[in-house]
Amino acid sequence: MCRLCLRDKCPSACPNYIPPKAYYYCSECGQGIFESDEYIENDDGEYRHYDCFRGIKDLCEWLGYEIKTMENNDYD
Ligand SMILES: [Zn+2]
Ligand SMILES: [Zn+2]
Repeated sequence: MCRLCLRDKCPSACPNYIPPKAYYYCSECGQGIFESDEYIENDDGEYRHYDCFRGIKDLCEWLGYEIKTMENNDYD
C-alpha cells in the first residue's frame, strides 16, 4: 500500500503514481498506447489509437491512400 495516498494503486494525483508503461505514443493525441488499446501503425512507423481517427477519410489519408475524385471524361 502507498504511504502517501493509502491506496493499493496510486491515482495520478499521488506523487508516487507510476504511469502505466506505454509501448508506443499516438501521433494524434500524444497519449500512450497501452496494453489492450486498439491501434493502427502506418508505413511511416507512426501509431494511432483506433479511436483517434476522425473518420474513414482521415484513416485512409493517414495510411497513405490518396482520395481521388472521379472525373467525367466522356465529352470527347
Ligand atoms: Zn500513492
Ligand atoms: Zn490517440
